[in-house]
Amino acid sequence: MTFSSHSSSRAARMWREIADRVYVRRFLEYNVTIGLIVGDGDMLLVDTRASERQARELQSEVRWIGQGRLHVVNTHHHFDHAFGNFVFLPADIWGHERCAVRLREDGPTALVALAAATPEIALEYTETRITPPNKTFRDSAQLQLGGRKVELHHFGRGHTDNDVVVVVPDVHAIFAGDLVEQAGPPSFEDSYPMDWPGTLGRLLEVAHGPVVPGHGEVVTRSFVEGQLADLAALAQLARRVRFDGGSVTDALPLSPFPPVAARHALIRAFAQLAGEL
Ligand SMILES: [Zn+2]
Repeated sequence: MTFSSHSSSRAARMWREIADRVYVRRFLEYNVTIGLIVGDGDMLLVDTRASERQARELQSEVRWIGQGRLHVVNTHHHFDHAFGNFVFLPADIWGHERCAVRLREDGPTALVALAAATPEIALEYTETRITPPNKTFRDSAQLQLGGRKVELHHFGRGHTDNDVVVVVPDVHAIFAGDLVEQAGPPSFEDSYPMDWPGTLGRLLEVAHGPVVPGHGEVVTRSFVEGQLADLAALAQLARRVRFDGGSVTDALPLSPFPPVAARHALIRAFAQLAGEL
């Protein structure tokens, strides 16, 4: 066995088929969970990792799984999901219209921050070219991977203002991006906590099989229901405390989330309630 075939078979084993020709791969960097949906001749990659180097690694692994024409979708604009886009050009790169806007507006600053935070691999980020999606939509889009249908939905604001849910109807598999988090508490820095429960409610309407989170292990519908209950409790808490004239600090001890996540969530929730977001 040559080294290359050994390493390729090892990488191929890192991809798990969670439903017929629907694959997921977890990466150590940022604990991100990447998806690949293989159709008849065409394939759809769900998210592209955090840099061009990481994306090239991803691209070579994808080629071990299938040889069809590759399309890409970004679940949202965050760096760990969309900064590898350039590597896949000239592919169609799908995303919400706000994903493209946010990448253009915030991408360059995020790259500088990443390079500063990881000086040992700063070059990896300074060499990365921000590439917004070239196929955008507002509410939903339908793709044909050969004869296999895939739906892209924006169910409303939640983790960001541009979250996309990828649905593979023939096997009831969905990719939730960071609307669902298994590896830790949800991430609230760019979030809309007052909208998130409603958005997750719409996601649940199509969750009849495996749900792939943006980070961590594949979950089931009941896990999403639990996360929805916590998000709904947080939104209700923010509303009640603000109505009583209280502050984020007053609400913090009552939150269903750990303190750091809860603080971000409550700051964003109070800003939404004040009409600032
Ligand atoms: Zn995110």
